[in-house]
Amino acid sequence: MSQAEVSRMKPPLVPLATLIGRELRNEKVEKPFVKFGQAALAKKGEDYFLVKSDCQRIPGNPATSFSVFAIFDGHNGISAAIFVKENLLGNILNAIPQRISREEWLQALPRALVAGFVKTDIEFQQRGETSGTTVTFVVIDGWTVTVASVGDSRCILDDTQGGVVSLLTVDHRLEENVEERERVTASGGEVGRLNVFGGNEVGPLRCWPGGLCLSRSIGDTDVGEFIVPIPHVKQVKLSNAGGRLIIASDGIWDALSSDMAAKSCRGLPADLAAKLVVKEALRSRGLKDDTTCLVVDIIPSDQPVLPPTPRKKQNALSSFLFGKISQNSTNKTTNKLSAVGVVEELFEEGSAMLAERLGKDFPMSANSGIFKCAVCQIDQPPAEGITANSGPFFSPASKPWEGPFLCNKCRKKKDAMEGKRPSRPTVAT
Ligand SMILES: [Zn+2]
Repeated sequence: MSQAEVSRMKPPLVPLATLIGRELRNEKVEKPFVKFGQAALAKKGEDYFLVKSDCQRIPGNPATSFSVFAIFDGHNGISAAIFVKENLLGNILNAIPQRISREEWLQALPRALVAGFVKTDIEFQQRGETSGTTVTFVVIDGWTVTVASVGDSRCILDDTQGGVVSLLTVDHRLEENVEERERVTASGGEVGRLNVFGGNEVGPLRCWPGGLCLSRSIGDTDVGEFIVPIPHVKQVKLSNAGGRLIIASDGIWDALSSDMAAKSCRGLPADLAAKLVVKEALRSRGLKDDTTCLVVDIIPSDQPVLPPTPRKKQNALSSFLFGKISQNSTNKTTNKLSAVGVVEELFEEGSAMLAERLGKDFPMSANSGIFKCAVCQIDQPPAEGITANSGPFFSPASKPWEGPFLCNKCRKKKDAMEGKRPSRPTVAT
């Protein structure tokens, strides 16, 4: 008697939930659909956003598709936000090695995001303009979501299955972030409030010189270089039940908590959800700032929309499991957690130290003896560049040939960000 005939004779012994679980754990589950909606209300006209749902890891191969969603909230003008919108994605992709597998590509992404943010900042500085921008940059490849951010825009994840709302960015407002205040002070900046009316302090904490409320941004050439463009990066893998991302500028988050924003639009399709979040923020606070919201649903391909309400009984399990599993994206043991309704954390790093973020690799191009700068990706013979660890500011004990390899220009930027040379390049304004 065949196996099939045996199973036909007996009632099923495996509970349905287990079968579904097994099916969902199967690595061959199809890529999800990505559906999005956008809504915005302008007060100053300094918010910009980017939606690219048709990117390809290998150009010409639709099976390697991924999507990008980003928000840029400009200040002191719009040129930084526009420049970053136009150049950042290219700079990031340029920092990812060619001809690698999907898994390797996802592992290379956090480092490429750091290189791309820093390169874009250096390029913008060279234009001699003083505006700046926050960046919240989201890459979705299959069930894996990677978020890089500087500033105070925010990306939240509403894990539909578990009903858990979690933050994928950190807040780089000096007022909210004590670690960043300490870093800025240690790098030569001053942090304090504005002094008016005979010494009364008003408003949020700002850094001086410059008076910016943020500790990280792209641009802001007129502010000390301790305001760095190095992003906080977080990479998670959704369960095969999918989830919803809400990416928005501070106009939303000054009015709504993450939970309020998520709950205000559950059960609605993404385009309506984005409109409703903006409306909800406006209702509670009025239009005080530019307000931009992107809602991105990552949906199983056999399901047309996200389920309207989360399954409450999974809350406890999901909250418990959504913890720090690994700081290392290469850790394979996290795979065993890909059960129903559980978000795996694959990678998280927020250090403002460039060398820590780029790793120690010494990528040498095909031509022997030519190194590639880990930030700007320009090939150079070693004599013309030095490693991040060389120079007069390091103790003799440090290894001068330990990576990452940086060209002269990028090494100067690194030193400036760490307060090791007078901030600010010469700006022709
Ligand atoms: Zn370089």
